[in-house]
Amino acid sequence: MTIEFIDLKAQQARIKDKLDARIQAVLAGGAYIMGPEVRELEGELATFCGAKHALTCANGTDALHLALMALGAKAGDAVFCPSFTFAATAEIVPHVGATPVFVDVDARTFNLCVESLKRAIVHAKELGFRPAGIIPVDLFGLPADYEAIEAIARENGMWIISDSAQGFGATYKDRTTGSIGDIATTSFFPAKPLGCYGDGGAVFTSNDELAALIGSLRVHGKGSDKYDNVRIGVNSRLDTLQAAILLEKLAIYADELDARQTVAGRYSAALGERFQVPYIPNETRSVWAQYTLRAASTEERDAAMAALKAEHIPSVVYYPLPLHQQQAYKDYPADPQGLSTCAELAKTVFSLPMHPYLSEQDQDRIIDVLLRV
Ligand SMILES: *Cc1c(COP(=O)(O)O)cnc(C)c1O
Repeated sequence: MTIEFIDLKAQQARIKDKLDARIQAVLAGGAYIMGPEVRELEGELATFCGAKHALTCANGTDALHLALMALGAKAGDAVFCPSFTFAATAEIVPHVGATPVFVDVDARTFNLCVESLKRAIVHAKELGFRPAGIIPVDLFGLPADYEAIEAIARENGMWIISDSAQGFGATYKDRTTGSIGDIATTSFFPAKPLGCYGDGGAVFTSNDELAALIGSLRVHGKGSDKYDNVRIGVNSRLDTLQAAILLEKLAIYADELDARQTVAGRYSAALGERFQVPYIPNETRSVWAQYTLRAASTEERDAAMAALKAEHIPSVVYYPLPLHQQQAYKDYPADPQGLSTCAELAKTVFSLPMHPYLSEQDQDRIIDVLLRV
């Protein structure tokens, strides 16, 4: 019996009839772009997280691009982001002419480190940049430390784009990710907690002006219609078919998040004495995009992954190289004290199979192997 890293087949079997009916309805309706399912989904997404507006788009990277365009990020602007993340977080910043400035992460949460952020802001100013905004990431599904980040943003007149590609629907105090930040973004890439069957993304905001701007930007900078072009935009929409699929997945999402929480709780209870298990701050709930352990050394990590592999159990390193050490990003500014936690994590973390349909029996097999390493 094989154990899947992320089991999309079990989810599909659960809602197959509903998915088929939804897909057939789109084929019968014929509105393949911006059809009624897109508006329906946007309403449901906004309700789910408590944001006033949800605007879907082609993928999570475009969602960040639309957010940066709407906020007017430009040349001379410093945009602060963690280095221990997927490349898309920083990738779009140079596309709008701004400069990504890399910040270290916290050794317990793996999310943006506020002390490092403060140092990076001072450094960026010394280099002649204008501190414009912060892109915190809800890494592996865990919300960033938003209250501390919001205080720094206010002090410096900066905006916040919450990159919740991995964290949509997580809880931070009395808020839900998607409703946090001036703008929040997410991705519906198939392997994300809320994924479709292709590429997809969304932008969230409770600011009416920003929502109107993003609505225009995603359709060629449209004014009254797409043949009235009032600004330079892009073409970034979610296919109606993907919206139809997401409607059925969103309907079971809350239930799936509970199941993910149960799986994570069992892992942590069993493995807590052997590895550094995920740390979840008070009043915070992760959506468990990944369940990630930290080993004491690279050797121990490699031994654990080899032992799993010998039992045909998949495990993955997210991320093997932090962005500030990547060829494409190594010349951008960073916290002058260095990003030692990002570098350390890259050498010691590994992620285990995690999805809402992981059986206790399969999970016990994984745990047994790890406890024998
Ligand atoms: C996946 C991901 C993105 C980009 O999403 P795509 O839909 O693949 O473009 C952005 N940021 C983070 C943190 C991600 O994990």
